[in-house]
Amino acid sequence: MKVFKASKSLVSHLSSQSRPLGFVPTMGALHDGHLSLINKALEQNHSVLVSIFINPTQFDNQTDLENYPTHFEADLQKIEKINGNISVYLPKAFDVYGQNIQSKSFDLGGLDLIMEGEKRSGHFQGVATVVSYFLNTFQPEKAYFGEKDFQQLRIVNHITQSQKLKTKIVSCPIVREKDGLAMSSRNALLTETERKFAPKLYESLCYAKKNAKHIQYGQLKDRINDFFKKYDLLTLDYFRITNAATLKEIDLEKPVSKGRAFIAAHLGKIRLIDNMDMS
Ligand code: AMP
Repeated sequence: MKVFKASKSLVSHLSSQSRPLGFVPTMGALHDGHLSLINKALEQNHSVLVSIFINPTQFDNQTDLENYPTHFEADLQKIEKINGNISVYLPKAFDVYGQNIQSKSFDLGGLDLIMEGEKRSGHFQGVATVVSYFLNTFQPEKAYFGEKDFQQLRIVNHITQSQKLKTKIVSCPIVREKDGLAMSSRNALLTETERKFAPKLYESLCYAKKNAKHIQYGQLKDRINDFFKKYDLLTLDYFRITNAATLKEIDLEKPVSKGRAFIAAHLGKIRLIDNMDMS
């Protein structure tokens, strides 16, 4: 495994690697969800690049950024264990941004202004800035993103289309704990008690899927709201079912025939998100 702190030396290294190149961007604190992306990239490519970079511009909250878990040594060991030939990009912010740690401004077709974008101002401009930098700099044939961050996946697809990038975006299913909780680096920050309540997000998505075709969407939304009111520790941020491609909310008066349900909730100081296909 070769670890690069500077994109310049990495680009020169990549020019000697056999193609296709599969790229897996992460913010580290790697878990089995991340590893599933890396394994898929290994299956589909001759070379694989993993980045570990906690991108400051996608955090709208300084405390969230400061508390974001970092386990770089353990991350490198996990990658090495999967495959010793993977290249790793582990930069400081200066290597990505220079002196000016700021997002660029992208037209993301409004996909950045709803749900996570509405709750986390500027988040997707930060994501778009770093993803666009990575794809333009490393020019991978394929890049792997998890459905765990479904809105991000849609936005990355939008960027590659609008910028006419040659990279194919590969979406990967959500990896869950045994009790249904979607794996996330932030789960490690939950207290023991909070952790017990964390699968409620998954439970409510399953409830939605089971009932969606039988009741009006608006009624379903009310039921999910009521469900969360029962738990003092949990505060629902939003529950929404949208068209999976446009992310536009479906008609409140109709039962759900297909679409994607999205949920975000606060559990103590931690904010969790999840989503599920409703068809
Ligand atoms: P992050 O380190 O949280 O930025 O995530 C890096 C990539 O891993 C993103 O494409 C995420 O969507 C993906 N990812 C994170 N958690 C999971 C999961 N539980 N299942 C599948 N993919 C995931």
